[in-house]
Amino acid sequence: MRYSQYLLPTLKETPADAEVISHQLMMRTGMIRKAAAGVYSYLPFGLRSIRKMEQIIREEMNRAGAIECLMPMANPAELWQESGRWEKYGKELLRFKDRKNADFCMGPTHEEVVTDIIRNTVSSYRQLPLNLYQIQTKFRDEIRPRFGLMRGREFIMKDAYSFDLEDAGADQSYQKMYQAYRNIFNRCGLKFRAVEADSGAIGGNFSHEFMVLAESGEDAIVSCSHCEYAANVEKAELVYRQQTPARATAELQRIDTPGQRTIEDVADFLDLAPSQVVKTLIVQTSADEVVAVLLRGDRELNSIKLANVLGVDWALLAEDEVVRTATGAPVGFAGPVGLQLRVIADAEIEGMADFVVGGNAEDVHYLGANHGRDFPVSCFADIRQAVAGDPCPRCEAGAFESWRGIEVGHVFKLGIKYSEAMNATVLDAHGKAQLLVMGCYGIGVGRTVAAAIEQNHDENGMMLPMPLAPFQVLVTMLNPKDAEVCEAAEKIYAELQELGVEVLLDDRDERPGIKFKDADLIGIPLRITVGARHLKEGNVELKRRAGGEQDIVPLADITSRVHQLVVEALKVTTKS
Ligand code: ATP
Ligand code: MG
Repeated sequence: MRYSQYLLPTLKETPADAEVISHQLMMRTGMIRKAAAGVYSYLPFGLRSIRKMEQIIREEMNRAGAIECLMPMANPAELWQESGRWEKYGKELLRFKDRKNADFCMGPTHEEVVTDIIRNTVSSYRQLPLNLYQIQTKFRDEIRPRFGLMRGREFIMKDAYSFDLEDAGADQSYQKMYQAYRNIFNRCGLKFRAVEADSGAIGGNFSHEFMVLAESGEDAIVSCSHCEYAANVEKAELVYRQQTPARATAELQRIDTPGQRTIEDVADFLDLAPSQVVKTLIVQTSADEVVAVLLRGDRELNSIKLANVLGVDWALLAEDEVVRTATGAPVGFAGPVGLQLRVIADAEIEGMADFVVGGNAEDVHYLGANHGRDFPVSCFADIRQAVAGDPCPRCEAGAFESWRGIEVGHVFKLGIKYSEAMNATVLDAHGKAQLLVMGCYGIGVGRTVAAAIEQNHDENGMMLPMPLAPFQVLVTMLNPKDAEVCEAAEKIYAELQELGVEVLLDDRDERPGIKFKDADLIGIPLRITVGARHLKEGNVELKRRAGGEQDIVPLADITSRVHQLVVEALKVTTKS
């Protein structure tokens, strides 16, 4: 491709509405343009990366035994009414009517359509297992479309649906997809974690989210430094190994702590570490109960875990007024001693003795407090937020590392949710009708490319890895008016194309400074610069965009050398 005849509308300025780097760079490199909020056109340069992503997905899905199909964007309402989601899906589902006044929606996902296909085409267990996938445009009327392709309203997704006769088979289908996803994101050169989204529900439905690690990610996750365990911070399990039983040695002692409200204040005042203070949170629940929650001073409450422990929909910090009524003291002095509330303590507290707590009176705390002796605890449970350094719940050796993540893929064991609602059955070996056991598996194509940019850029521009970069090699003609330069660059361009290398030739009549700036911005992984100075010695310059090393290479060797580098960078090593 010749730059002079290509559509590459690069921007010097960052568009005002682009908050994250991938959105900024996709706009600045001319990969995408906005048509409406969350609705984008893929310009030629962007489409090349999108298509590469799709191709990697396709190859790995095929390798895993899934079969490609393509379902309609326009979904008839009847199917969605059968599953019950026509009512339940809410405003993300874009509904419309055709000229006959029949209801339709734009497919935001395709469980209904695919289940309908299978129930009408598959009748015997002998035809199973089956996994159908498509790479297709979805529409979800997101409340807050943002970050470019990261959270669009119209976006390309790969969605796959597996059908098995039995639960065990469905688990195998799930495992195959799990491994295919690992292969896909590895091939893209991404740093990612497969995060347990619904931990440990054995035999039931379970799911993993694939998270690309990036500062701009919406999710906080932890992963083990040693094994494959990873989880959303909200769900990460905590373990307390070798917890020594707490033994009280100190007397309970009431002390004055004038004006010391926060844990840090109190710890400083008493010359202790915050971890030696126990904080008491007054929490109100959806069941209209007020409870006291104890946590080590330096820990954060995980209100989702707490709500699960209490068996309620939500459990949130109580209003000041409720705290005052419950403790008889202003906010900042709550404590468990003498408190007339149920006390839930974080599991960690069980191993603590002789700690500091609030005194339920202004400017008062207790030293030497001990659970059991000085106040009752109704239950000890895992209710705190996981942090980096916490021991792994699955292996003995590892500890948590913490990250932010972008969810690029999701594998989900659905069970019989849709087959039951839509009566999708096959006959088993005994001629008996059995509901199909399903799984569904999604990957956001545009979101993954965006996430790859989040992980691969510098202050000068994009640095997409070879498998996703729009072109593999950029040949820059430093002075197109110099006949020798022109001839050498054209020759390299032609030879590389002959070798099947994807090459962009910067043949524009622009100053070198502009060409170099654009080259950094669009970030094609390998860059050959042809200029009069090196050419005089029979050489050209070879540079990698990431890392920036520069080599002077004889003109005669350049194309074979570059071809080899491309082949190496694309070498596929996958597991099945
Ligand atoms: P999120 O929590 O980010 O809204 P989701 O749980 O709704 O995601 P799924 O229904 O599991 O997402 O969709 C499968 C994949 O499709 C996601 O992992 C993500 O990569 C992608 N995806 C979902 N919503 C969007 C969107 N609005 N824009 C771009 N990609 C999306
Ligand atoms: Mg969503």
